[in-house]
Amino acid sequence: MPDAEPDPLLGREPLPGRDCGTCHVCCVSLTIDEPELQKPQGFRCRNLVQGQGCAIYGTRPQTCRSFNCGWRLLKWVRPSLRPDQSGVLVRLHYEVAKATGQQTLGVAITLLENSALNAEGLAETVAAAVASGIPVYLHVPGPPGYTASQARINEALEHAVLTKDKAAVLQVLRLARAKGRAGKHAPIVLKPRAQP
Ligand code: SF4
Ligand code: SF4
Repeated sequence: MPDAEPDPLLGREPLPGRDCGTCHVCCVSLTIDEPELQKPQGFRCRNLVQGQGCAIYGTRPQTCRSFNCGWRLLKWVRPSLRPDQSGVLVRLHYEVAKATGQQTLGVAITLLENSALNAEGLAETVAAAVASGIPVYLHVPGPPGYTASQARINEALEHAVLTKDKAAVLQVLRLARAKGRAGKHAPIVLKPRAQP
């Protein structure tokens, strides 16, 4: 199992071979709230053209320009976890210590569908992060247009990772996802914008 790297990675270029290709998961999963484009998570962006990709690529909003998922940036995220092929979306997520305000770079993992639990390399990737002390959160989106819940799962995974129990790692993910889905999700409120 390769070690994960807890060092900050923002600003780095995507890894060689980690091209988006035909993946457009973030064009559905992100909430975008900018003057030129507003859409809550879960809805496919109106600029995404079947078979062509982004119709406004050159002028796409800053949210899109600055976003790279963890699969593109983190070498300890297994190559098999490209979001559209695995159903697993890894986002960079800063954990802020309440006492000191210190920020630690971690990840927030979304299992986009039930079958994502079968994704090759999922348990190994999560275990590598936990073993390296990287904060790992499970991000569970509400229905399209609704907020997500997010919970840190490092502590729940400790024993499974220590004993190298892959089935137990996946069970923790399964239970955390079910709990998140059963929780409350509120409608996402986008900023009021002047009509053009
Ligand atoms: S989710 Fe990741 S791989 Fe997929 S389009 Fe977005 S940045 Fe690219
Ligand atoms: S504007 Fe383009 S890059 Fe941004 S979400 Fe829409 S299709 Fe994707």
